[in-house]
Amino acid sequence: MSWEPVIGLEIHVQLATRSKIFSGASTAFGAEPNAQACAVDLGLPGVLPVLNEQAVAMAVKFGLAIGAEVHLDSVFDRKNYFYPDLPKGYQISQFETPIVGRGEITLHMDDGNDRVVGITRAHLEEDAGKSVHDLFAGQTGIDLNRTGTPLLEVVSEPDMRTAAEAATYFKQMHALVRYLKICDGNLAEGSMRCDANVSVRPLGSSEFGERTEIKNINSFRFVERAINFEIQRHIDVLESGGTIERETRLYDPDRDETRAMRGKEMSEDYRYFPDPDLLPLTISQTLVDQIAADMPELPDARRQRYTAELGLTPYDAGWLSNDPDIAAYFDDVLDACGNAKQSANWIMGDLSAFLNREDLSINQSPVSSAQLAQLITRLDDNTLSSKTAKQLFEALWKEGGQEDGEVDALIESLGLKQMSDSGELEAIVEQILADNPDQLEQLRGGKDKVLGFFVGQVMKQTQGKANPQQVNEIIRSKL
Ligand code: ADP
Ligand code: MG
Repeated sequence: MSWEPVIGLEIHVQLATRSKIFSGASTAFGAEPNAQACAVDLGLPGVLPVLNEQAVAMAVKFGLAIGAEVHLDSVFDRKNYFYPDLPKGYQISQFETPIVGRGEITLHMDDGNDRVVGITRAHLEEDAGKSVHDLFAGQTGIDLNRTGTPLLEVVSEPDMRTAAEAATYFKQMHALVRYLKICDGNLAEGSMRCDANVSVRPLGSSEFGERTEIKNINSFRFVERAINFEIQRHIDVLESGGTIERETRLYDPDRDETRAMRGKEMSEDYRYFPDPDLLPLTISQTLVDQIAADMPELPDARRQRYTAELGLTPYDAGWLSNDPDIAAYFDDVLDACGNAKQSANWIMGDLSAFLNREDLSINQSPVSSAQLAQLITRLDDNTLSSKTAKQLFEALWKEGGQEDGEVDALIESLGLKQMSDSGELEAIVEQILADNPDQLEQLRGGKDKVLGFFVGQVMKQTQGKANPQQVNEIIRSKL
């Protein structure tokens, strides 16, 4: 029998506000444990939550970006459960009336196919604290700095059918929230975490199978691996006559497997009810309209601009537009040099390899967009050969922080100029032809392969500064 996987994701997006969703405590990452949890976050008696306006504006912005209905009226509810890192005994969330209703996102798959995924809802909530298990032997520490950090939980429809689609969904969601500047997108610091819901059903069936939920995945690679593992596990269990139990599982990247964590709670278990400490949230259409008028260019529009106007391939356009900082850098290089294809090649090739090697982000690149543009200009006007352009790039990388105008000076001082003096080049060609009479004989006899040998010799002699095409022409003219 063939099985069809069904996948839905819940993504927690940590909103980039400076203070918490219901208190004035800081949200900055990395402080001493419990230095940033105030009386409101701890739920001490006699304090009341006050809603952070910025968090609301960010949720609205997200709703508009996914074409969703933004609800002018929504409600905060208490989700009740006991856990040591939840001192209040409940989490403030939104249950039946979330701020953002149904929307959608179009996935652009690497194979060139597009796929629309429904987004059920997005709601505002507060994060819980953190249990620290590895710091004190035999004890668990509780760090409440994260308590009350604003989250937007984005729930997808069970519309995905492969782990690759789920990973693409996570990646595009990451790109979107960074474009919107509502989240710093730092996966390593937990700024975006996803829960993957997985089930399988016989191909052609119209009903869903029982699902399991893999909690707290914070990497694109792991989301794909965890889901693939889970799909195979479901199939194995079902094919050996077993049944899948609704449960929550954890992915262990070291062993590349998922493990049962706990039986799944149902929403009844949480005894949701409207939080009596908070008024229902009402926002004005004027606010929504203002936010709509301020929307930045979104990833899809940029991608579309790169393919339709610049003629880039869908792959290149996707690669460049996924990260708003890379896209901005690309736009700057292109503005200054006018060559879209070369700009894309350099950024996706050499620049990205160098950045990866030193684990730098594009904003930390020692080679500025203006410098790269000037390099491309000098390549286009034949001052540089492809080889000397690479040498120049390395030099710019090493020397970093130069004035943009110094690119030309560096070409001069490093002697990277392509030889344009054909007289000088002709002399070198003649010398090399004379030094290799046997190969010359073969070439004259029609053995074209030997041409490559001669071009290679000339390039060597000129340290890569000759234009190979010109060398070719000169050799042929000498036969
Ligand atoms: P819960 O309240 O238990 O988290 P929801 O109904 O809100 O449950 O669904 C959570 C997520 O699970 C959603 O992203 C949804 O798309 C997904 N989901 C629901 N049913 C299935 C299923 N049968 N297989 C895979 N995913 C599913
Ligand atoms: Mg859930």
